[in-house]
Amino acid sequence: MSHSGTPGGQPGPQRTTDRAPALSEPARAYAELIAGNRRFVSGAPRHPNQDAGHRAAVADGQHPFAVIVGCSDSRLAAEIIFDRGLGDLFVVRTAGHTAGPEVLGSVEYAVTVLGTPLVVVLGHDSCGAVQAAREVATTGTQPQGHLRAVVDAVLPSLRRAETEGVQDIDGIVDIHIAQTVETLLGQSPVLADEVAQGRCAVVGVSYRLAAGAVSPVAAVPACFATLGEEAGPLGPAAPAAA
Ligand SMILES: [Zn+2]
Repeated sequence: MSHSGTPGGQPGPQRTTDRAPALSEPARAYAELIAGNRRFVSGAPRHPNQDAGHRAAVADGQHPFAVIVGCSDSRLAAEIIFDRGLGDLFVVRTAGHTAGPEVLGSVEYAVTVLGTPLVVVLGHDSCGAVQAAREVATTGTQPQGHLRAVVDAVLPSLRRAETEGVQDIDGIVDIHIAQTVETLLGQSPVLADEVAQGRCAVVGVSYRLAAGAVSPVAAVPACFATLGEEAGPLGPAAPAAA
């Protein structure tokens, strides 16, 4: 595996070694992501791996430590909100983080060919794709063109929210994030096997547009849902989650 212990060539301040010496590779990758998000939230990003030297260094090959399956929303730029740079994240984005065949294939490529140990589903509050699906579910009016494919992919989450009695849009978003995690694992035996073997984890996180912070809403293995807290301080800036 080529995931470096210090993605980005950063010195890795204290890391988690004294409190969690046996963190697995997926757990270390998740800790790196959370640490980057905390830097971003606190207004103290380091912008790692964005210099010319690193650009040249990664030209011969990529070893991203996380796959991001995120919404295309323009305010959800993965490298910015996780404070990472070139070669760090393998990013697949669609409106409403739908998980169709090309997305599944892209995830499988990263996990099996590149050896990436973590898949993160990244959704957010006020998601337009989820709102569009709710509009369709409410009015029955079908959207134009290929937008229908996006809405159709989100509708199962709307039905699940209805069954669970969840009506607020951000609650529905959280359900859709969890649904996307389940879809990835359910539709990709390759990914499910990597997770079963302990080589990979899949975590769904919800991002708050105004605060900039992510919080986990679903995870396989389930322990990843609380890993950020268990791992203790991950970096120089660790503000309490709002
Ligand atoms: Zn969205």
